[in-house]
Amino acid sequence: MHNEDFPLIFEHSQPGRTSFSLPALDVPETDLEDVFEKTYIRETEAELPELSELQVIRHYTALSKRNHGVDSGFYPLGSCTMKYNPKINEDVARLEGFSHIHPYQDGKTVQGAMEMLYDLQTSLAEITGMHEVSLQPAAGAHGEWTGLMMIRAFHEANGDFHRTKVIVPDSAHGTNPASATVAGFESVTVQSNENGLVDLEDLKRVVGNDTAALMLTNPNTLGLFEEHILEMAEIVHEAGGKLYYDGANLNAIMGYARPGDMGFDVVHLNLHKTFTGPHGGGGPGSGPVGVSEELARFLPKPVLTKVEETYIFDYDRPDSIGRVKPYYGNFGINLRAYTYIRTMGAEGLKKVSEYAVLNANYMMRRLEKEYHLPYNQHCKHEFVLSGKNQKKLGVRTLDIAKRLLDFGFHPPTIYFPLNVEEALMVEPTETEAKETLDEFIDTMLQIAQEAKNNPEIVQEAPYTTVVKRMDETTAARKPILRYTTQ
Ligand SMILES: *Cc1c(COP(=O)(O)O)cnc(C)c1O
Repeated sequence: MHNEDFPLIFEHSQPGRTSFSLPALDVPETDLEDVFEKTYIRETEAELPELSELQVIRHYTALSKRNHGVDSGFYPLGSCTMKYNPKINEDVARLEGFSHIHPYQDGKTVQGAMEMLYDLQTSLAEITGMHEVSLQPAAGAHGEWTGLMMIRAFHEANGDFHRTKVIVPDSAHGTNPASATVAGFESVTVQSNENGLVDLEDLKRVVGNDTAALMLTNPNTLGLFEEHILEMAEIVHEAGGKLYYDGANLNAIMGYARPGDMGFDVVHLNLHKTFTGPHGGGGPGSGPVGVSEELARFLPKPVLTKVEETYIFDYDRPDSIGRVKPYYGNFGINLRAYTYIRTMGAEGLKKVSEYAVLNANYMMRRLEKEYHLPYNQHCKHEFVLSGKNQKKLGVRTLDIAKRLLDFGFHPPTIYFPLNVEEALMVEPTETEAKETLDEFIDTMLQIAQEAKNNPEIVQEAPYTTVVKRMDETTAARKPILRYTTQ
């Protein structure tokens, strides 16, 4: 595949060109085959591009300018919390005491790093109201799976092998039913009512002695707080099931309410969302799980604990579900989250939720003038609009998303959640200034006017981006992922 418009780095390559100069060899030359087993030696030359340092820098700088990131503009992608990642996190992550250590180092030589992780665990336990926390899971979905495996181990330890079903509301995040399936459960859907909240009558209908757990995304994917959590907790616990809290979006309630206090047995958090871990490009992330005292013996091992004044990794946990990640989670992301928590303090974290919720409600109320609001109540950190008024004019939500690109905005999440026609899911986050929110709102209102007066402008957008309208089906179904010279 050759791209005329933007050559790949391989296409800049000239044989023999390098970015470095090594001193002349001043030791005897050795044949690799004399030193290593043959199986470890590559048989063909690695095909690497040969360029000068300046060419490499220009290539990647040009590439980065074609991208959109939180550092370059507003990024209201619902359910993703694309908030600003403070640079102090990066400074701390680069301190040599953290960046120059090795995970196989003797624990005695890295007590400071272990203390940091231990303090992070303790802080997250306090923030969520849980008994103990493990930092091993590398993402939200990984935390979900880890939590469900602990619930499974709990039921099996009680001989309750018949508890094979996990109840998941239709307003849950998409990873919930997927994690339930991967953890070996059958996922059962419970319907939402006309207010967009879990229908308690439907919950009573599906709950039974085969229930292993209820997984609740709160706020749900409509951005709404599940008002009847205490009733739900009672219904599920009564039936012998456990309660799982998907806390990926803790920025909606942090400092105000704690899953542990609501009766949840397991919770996961997304440190790469609420706690400012950068999450462009798919990772690395961190999805710690917190558990109640009853489930603590099933936590992944090793468990980081403190014995007198020493931090140790405890492997002597006979009921543990085992290790779920090499080493002990994504250290760098956990360190950034720790820095964030220490910078904000308890009051600061509470303010995060306040502003995240305030910003979302402000935008929702201004935008509902032109965009249909399917569930008309206060939202939490995000809200869902429907583009159905615009669709009647021949302008789809996809067109609106594309048009936003012309104004330098990353579009909101679209066509999710599935239970809203032509959905537009907006999450402003607390880190944006009111001017930015207003600019985005004004642009959305202008696009609504264009849809009325000049629909073809919106239908053919974007005009200002490097890549114009893509063939989405071909891009999704037949992606070209590998560079070939043909
Ligand atoms: C993002 C998100 C997840 C999944 O987290 P990953 O880190 O992408 O695996 C799960 N639940 C909710 C509510 C989320 O917003």
